Amino acid sequence: MDLAGENGAHTTADRQVPSAYLHLPFCDYHCGYCHFTVEAGRDYLIDEYLRALEIELSWLKEARRVETVFVGGGTPTYLSPLQLERLLNLVRKSFVFGDRYEWTLEANPSDLCEEKLALLSEYGVNRLSLGVQSFDDEKLALLERNHNSDLVEKGVALAKKYVPNISLDLIFATPNESLQTWQNDLRRAVALSPLHLSTYGLTFEKGTAFWGRRERKELTETAEDLFIEMYLEARHFLKDRGYTHYEISNFAQNQKKCFHNIRCWQGEEYYAIGAGACGYLDSVRYTNNRSTRGYMKAVLEGKDPIVSKEIISPIDRIIEKIVFGLRRLDGLEITPLFAELEKCSNGQPVEVNGAKVRKRLEPLLERYRHLGWLQESFGKLSFTEEGILVSDTLLAEMLAAGTAG
Ligand code: SF4
Repeated sequence: MDLAGENGAHTTADRQVPSAYLHLPFCDYHCGYCHFTVEAGRDYLIDEYLRALEIELSWLKEARRVETVFVGGGTPTYLSPLQLERLLNLVRKSFVFGDRYEWTLEANPSDLCEEKLALLSEYGVNRLSLGVQSFDDEKLALLERNHNSDLVEKGVALAKKYVPNISLDLIFATPNESLQTWQNDLRRAVALSPLHLSTYGLTFEKGTAFWGRRERKELTETAEDLFIEMYLEARHFLKDRGYTHYEISNFAQNQKKCFHNIRCWQGEEYYAIGAGACGYLDSVRYTNNRSTRGYMKAVLEGKDPIVSKEIISPIDRIIEKIVFGLRRLDGLEITPLFAELEKCSNGQPVEVNGAKVRKRLEPLLERYRHLGWLQESFGKLSFTEEGILVSDTLLAEMLAAGTAG
């Protein structure tokens, strides 16, 4: 694939790509913990940004068949009804949806109204990922969210009338949060019967307002033992109420897993459209300009918005499949992946061929099994509960071992 072609990633030969991600960077307010590039208070950019998206999408040349589309941000529902309809229409005319498509749109409870939800339904959005974060008004205020618990409950009830699959995002381990507050969040979330829940522990990322506040000792990070207690509380509470814990941070009822994310974790290809969006096509991972203005300038001038490309070798692809595959808790069939690895030479000297990589990974996996962090069942390898708690470290170690030259 010639990513540096006439107009970037989208002048490739006709192809079928199963997924697409579109990024909308606009928000009402930049929450103190958020490390995404967000345009808060720059609503005057939205119409031009939509024009840039339209141009970038037009470079796909013709409608493409997709199985999943994820519109994320930022907050796509922050757009006015008119702008939102323009966005939905763009997606509809740019892609042909498969019969069992999944179209997710990220939303904030404070943006939900009948008019916008009716538009989502009309255009076929069938999954809403709601940034609820908490039902505790003090916790929401600390997170600098612009909604309260009352708005969440009303918003979810309203959204359910229009969108069949509702997912709620929750955050735990915020400064001074007690286990009881988190238990109450879980209880109130489940009472709304969402088909999917994502639970994330708060992290302090460099460059965020929260990072600075922690440095100045205005905010205190949650102690590790309480963090773990909260994580396990979510796992046990949700499992007891019929949710499958299918990925480290994700739970689903009735098999309503996020198929878009599953496809990405499986190493399948996806288009990326919009500022900072990252895609994967023809063994190349590419990222669009992260600056909203930089992205818009490039596209509006008819130039390639891609700022970085990384060729993923067959060996690296298999290593990623192993690492991302293990994040899924239903287990990974490692034998076929190892067999595939054996066949990869990468055109490299023997020191870095697939067989060598397998020899580095196998003892590592064996050690994790021995330590009770990995288990094998019906030929599938998965993390144990103890393993999940240290999975970030283990996955980083596996990635390092796999890619060591
Ligand atoms: S609403 Fe979401 S994307 Fe926007 S600033 Fe807050 S956390 Fe970040």
